[in-house]
Amino acid sequence: MEKYWDALRSSWIWEELYKSRNFRPAAQFHSPIQYPKPDGVLSFDIPTSLHRSNTNHEHDQPAHLQLRDPKIPELVNLPEYAGPESRYCPARVYEYMPDEKGQLKLQINAQNCLHCKACDIKDPKQNIQWTAPEGGGGPGYSIM
Ligand code: SF4
Repeated sequence: MEKYWDALRSSWIWEELYKSRNFRPAAQFHSPIQYPKPDGVLSFDIPTSLHRSNTNHEHDQPAHLQLRDPKIPELVNLPEYAGPESRYCPARVYEYMPDEKGQLKLQINAQNCLHCKACDIKDPKQNIQWTAPEGGGGPGYSIM
């Protein structure tokens, strides 16, 4: 075991790891990035981008985005992680909307899904199950 540590300490990776050893603790002090608003020339807002993707799903098909546990968004994702699905989804499929009592509830606009599968990978509790939609629905790749 000591031979392994000696080899590691004398390698280039040790030098790199040592230089970056404080990066993760320092990350908590970074201020949020202020991105410029879309200029309509090179960058576009989400509704415009979504319209151009020509994404389409049959309205009466079974939902292709399912929650393994429907309580996780309100009990875990929102209080612990500030609802990350409402930010990482490029099509604004996931929105936290107030119910009649003012409590935020997750609303899933599955018809807007662009099939990037980020939600299938990034959900903190792996609670979102992406399945292939019925009838070949999705973005209009033929016009891209
Ligand atoms: S697959 Fe991508 S576009 Fe579709 S809901 Fe998930 S994150 Fe959003």
